[in-house]
Amino acid sequence: MSKATLIIENARVLTMDPDRPRAEAVAIGGAMILGVGSREDMDAFAGPDTRRFDAQGKTVLPGFVESHLHIFPGSLGLKLLHLDKIRGVPAFCEAVQAYAAANPDAELLVCKSAGYDLFGVGTHITRHELDKAVSDRPLVLIAPDHHTAWANTFALEKAGLINGMDVPVGNEVVMGEDGKASGELREFEAYKHVMALDSDGGRDNAGMTGIEPKGATAASRAADAEILLDGLKYCASYGFTSIHNMDGNFYQLEVLKILEDRGDLLCRTEIPYHLTPSKPLSMIEEAVEMNRQYKSDRLRSGRVKMFMDGVIDSGTAFMVEPYADDGKNCEALHTAERFNAAAIEIDRNGLQIAVHAIGDAAVRRVLDGYEAAQKANGKRDSRHRIEHIEVLNPEDLHRFKELGVVASMQPQHPPLALDFPFLPWTAKVGEARWPWSFPVQYLRDEGVPITFASDWPVADIDPMRGVMAAVMRKPWKEGHPSHASSLMQALSYYTVGGAYTGFDENRLGRLAPGLLADIVVMSHDIESLAPQDLGTARAALTLCGGEVTWEA
Ligand SMILES: [Zn+2]
Repeated sequence: MSKATLIIENARVLTMDPDRPRAEAVAIGGAMILGVGSREDMDAFAGPDTRRFDAQGKTVLPGFVESHLHIFPGSLGLKLLHLDKIRGVPAFCEAVQAYAAANPDAELLVCKSAGYDLFGVGTHITRHELDKAVSDRPLVLIAPDHHTAWANTFALEKAGLINGMDVPVGNEVVMGEDGKASGELREFEAYKHVMALDSDGGRDNAGMTGIEPKGATAASRAADAEILLDGLKYCASYGFTSIHNMDGNFYQLEVLKILEDRGDLLCRTEIPYHLTPSKPLSMIEEAVEMNRQYKSDRLRSGRVKMFMDGVIDSGTAFMVEPYADDGKNCEALHTAERFNAAAIEIDRNGLQIAVHAIGDAAVRRVLDGYEAAQKANGKRDSRHRIEHIEVLNPEDLHRFKELGVVASMQPQHPPLALDFPFLPWTAKVGEARWPWSFPVQYLRDEGVPITFASDWPVADIDPMRGVMAAVMRKPWKEGHPSHASSLMQALSYYTVGGAYTGFDENRLGRLAPGLLADIVVMSHDIESLAPQDLGTARAALTLCGGEVTWEA
């Protein structure tokens, strides 16, 4: 019998494996799990060099899978000013001026997590308030959802946006009554011009536009590797062992490869090819090439990411019926013809597809494309995904199961579930559509595979706060369905659900002999916590492939 390098004992093990849901100890040999069972049974794997870790009665789980995040913007954002707790012009000015003083050399002052209600509910943020904080250096604020940014006058002038600019459909440089840009920049194609003022040239966000950053050098790769390492450490500190990135380019893969080669890739990382609306379908060839070049145990590419629409709050999500508050609607980012053709071509190449679709019409158009791909190429185990699904039309529910589509959802995102406000989301969607908003329960009842994630840095990455939000979910109106999950359901969507979504169910997501030793020991016995306290539990020890990637 091979001897264990590590035995985790005195644990409440939740294996997520239906064959043996609970155990007391886990024996690990190198990168693999040797055994899961009672303390006595695991002792049989002990040798003279076996390390023992006393879990002190706390919960042990398979390492969490973060199936939707943006690692580069998230990693860089760890160093930036966050405005999530700031409201009102005076507090804003004070925070930004202190940040500016502390960063005298920053070529662009970037603030993250700027709420749409930063200066009051229903008050539009303009360059004039930003100018009050800083007027002689470029300043940009990014909304938590990353779909809107606001720039001060200096930045707008420097980026050539002050008199407006033609940007692709679905993006907008919002103009003020004075004929100048108001400061609000909707969607990335509008605000990327400001981000380019930064000394990193917007490399962190290049994957969002699916392009390769200009002026990348060996030095930029080395510097960016350190930034990404900070982000991966942050992920590991929350118990994540696998991450599915949702923006991508060759550059990110090259930088991550630097970390992989020196043994610092702390999470198994999957990077997609990002097919934007302006790219010709012939460029899908690049996704095939990415998949060919990157398929190691820790770093791989095999998926194409697309956006079908924007977000509800800014009115850029594509709805079947118009918005409830202003009667408006918007266009999708891809026509049906274009999307169907793309889905057929990507699917034909054996790649997975993941599409951001928030409005119910966007979800429908994506399902139409997946159906077209299945008709054209035949049914296969494709596991194409839809990201977010904030509003679903009842008529489309049955199509998920029929087409084998994975629902990739974020329990942190519903208004009031965690950190996001009630308005404007709920008013824009309107009460009639609330029962079909973030419809986890309906999808579960239908047998649709579900995976949970945060969309970090859009929302807090903490998986236990995500679990808490999922368990505590309440309807916005009495009598409406709650769409809450049980603790075990929520945990399964962060483990087995993520593994299935990544075609990894035979490697990870459960604790069973022969699977990878991707394991997290929690700070608490989480089953003993009250639902509202679930978010206090953290990772005490994280192992990826048997290696300690985090120890509190
Ligand atoms: Zn995202």
